[in-house]
Amino acid sequence: MALAARPIAKPGQCLLKCVDCGDDILDARRLAMLDRGCTRCTGCEELADRRLGVRV
Ligand SMILES: [Zn+2]
Repeated sequence: MALAARPIAKPGQCLLKCVDCGDDILDARRLAMLDRGCTRCTGCEELADRRLGVRV
């Protein structure tokens, strides 16, 4: 579990802007990620997951 390494993200909380690139995070994505929270856009999240070794 790499959840502890994720910045800020709490379950049920999604940021409006990606913390990595500053782009807007799409509403559809924020809704889809509500259970685990999200701080990044789709592209940056994929990169971060790969860095952390998280299997998607
Ligand atoms: Zn991003």
